[in-house]
Amino acid sequence: MAPADRRPETAASATPAGDVRVEPFDRYNQELVANVHPADWVNPVPRERYHLVVIGAGTAGLVTASIAAGLGARVALVERYLMGGDCLNVGCVPSKGMISAARSWQAAADSRGRFGGPALGGGGDFAAVMTRMRRLRAGLSRVDGAPRYRDLGVDVFLGDGRFTARDTLTVDGRVLRFRRAVIATGARAAIPPIPGLEETGYLTNETVFTLTELPRRLTVIGAGPIGCELAQAFARLGAAVTVIDQGARVLPRDDSDAAAIVERAMEALGVRVLHRAVVTRAERRGPECVVHVEIAGRAEAIACDQLLVAVGRAPNVEGLGLEAAGVAVGLRGVTVDDRLRTSNPRIFAVGDICSKYQFTHAADATARLVVANALFFGIGGGKASRLVMPWVTYTTPEVAHVGLPAADAMAAGARVQTITVPLQQVDRAVLDGEDDGFLRVHLERGSDRILGATLVAEHAGEMIGEITLAITAGLGLARIGAAIHPYPTQSEVFRKAADGWRRARLTPRAKRVFAAFFRLIG
Ligand SMILES: Cc1cc2nc3c(=O)[nH]c(=O)nc-3n(C[C@H](O)[C@H](O)[C@H](O)COP(=O)(O)OP(=O)(O)OC[C@H]3O[C@@H](n4cnc5c(N)ncnc54)[C@H](O)[C@@H]3O)c2cc1C
Repeated sequence: MAPADRRPETAASATPAGDVRVEPFDRYNQELVANVHPADWVNPVPRERYHLVVIGAGTAGLVTASIAAGLGARVALVERYLMGGDCLNVGCVPSKGMISAARSWQAAADSRGRFGGPALGGGGDFAAVMTRMRRLRAGLSRVDGAPRYRDLGVDVFLGDGRFTARDTLTVDGRVLRFRRAVIATGARAAIPPIPGLEETGYLTNETVFTLTELPRRLTVIGAGPIGCELAQAFARLGAAVTVIDQGARVLPRDDSDAAAIVERAMEALGVRVLHRAVVTRAERRGPECVVHVEIAGRAEAIACDQLLVAVGRAPNVEGLGLEAAGVAVGLRGVTVDDRLRTSNPRIFAVGDICSKYQFTHAADATARLVVANALFFGIGGGKASRLVMPWVTYTTPEVAHVGLPAADAMAAGARVQTITVPLQQVDRAVLDGEDDGFLRVHLERGSDRILGATLVAEHAGEMIGEITLAITAGLGLARIGAAIHPYPTQSEVFRKAADGWRRARLTPRAKRVFAAFFRLIG
């Protein structure tokens, strides 16, 4: 055994943050914490030097650490709060748990009017929705937990990680030396400087999933993906929801026609969406929050029981000692090159802390690159810009996108051919009553090479994989059209797009040739 692998027998001190609680601290949240920040966790004695130290145990950090340890590297993983990070604890998992309940409530409510189903009596049980979410989250948390990572051969340190030099980090009073380090400290909810906001009190994604009672009136500031997903879910669960946004439309990063459909769906549920609205101040009036807005010079006061702030994400760069490590930081977080290397060649970054794609699958995909780039001189790794990145907003309908952004496709003009197929042309979508949507494919003009696509459909997130695979594997739209799609499925929309492309390719000359042929054969 190399000296660096030898550990003293008496290796332990209790973690300084052993009393972490997640509210409500019921049996499910106790189970969650027992996995992702065990109260009795004992930090190991550091090895002499690690091949890799990873700071932050969200998706990016967990994937980086597990792959590197699996390949035999000495790896330390440092987490100050809950392993699993945002996705497990306060992001994808709880939000999708809530959204699935909200969809089910909506289906039950719609059943009679739309499908002649049985009449319903009585209201739903919001507390049960949140208990279910907590139970499922606790179950999923085992996979991200500290004991599992210890069993994978990773030295797990619970505590605040802070660089003290270009090759050294401290946690819980211990010094970790490294050949390479990866910063994976993620992002948090950005809080706008609204006068009175702090005194009024507000929810963010970090607190909204602790609710056990449905707010009768909910105001959401921000109409991005998180704002829209949660506004729609709360509306379906019975809250009167108002969304305040400074922009001209919801989902500003997505195709504008897709955003219009989502906004229509939200409004059909009674969600009030205010655009070009500037929040001038917030105040608390007893149990109520009052949000003051100005829209086109007109002032309005919106009263609510809970206020949710969802205006974007701020990178977790504070307190990391990045100056001591020689790591440069920009407005969007840690600055990296295309191989995810920071200004200190020993240190890389991955996930929300440095990525323009703030998604769990983006954190996962870039973590795979970073292990190879950091430890194996890039062999098997690569450039982040080469990744074909899909993303999905889990509203109803869902909006899924991959490849060339819609705005860039518009800007590219004549170099791009765009084919749109409305879901009204897809039998299964019509039969399901889910035909307010479309597929839009952007192709390189003069070929069937797919540059990007937007799909708006009930389960667009499940369907976009076909286009993602095609772009990744270099398959053109014609090959997608050549694959047989079962009838009736909503995936037939892809074949219809290929048919559309083929029809558009038929030049007037080719049409004349065919006409002559048919005249000839009578
Ligand atoms: C409400 C919501 C819904 C979402 N839904 C989806 C979705 O459906 N699909 C999807 O793909 N993405 C979704 N996301 C985004 C997704 O959660 C993030 O992209 C993902 O969690 C990023 O992973 P990460 O590892 O980069 O960062 P994080 O998950 O934020 O992890 C960073 C970790 O670093 C720790 N840390 C920070 N500083 C230190 C320090 N100094 N020392 C030690 N540890 C530190 C933090 O405690 C945290 O655990 C959602 C996000 C939110 C907020």
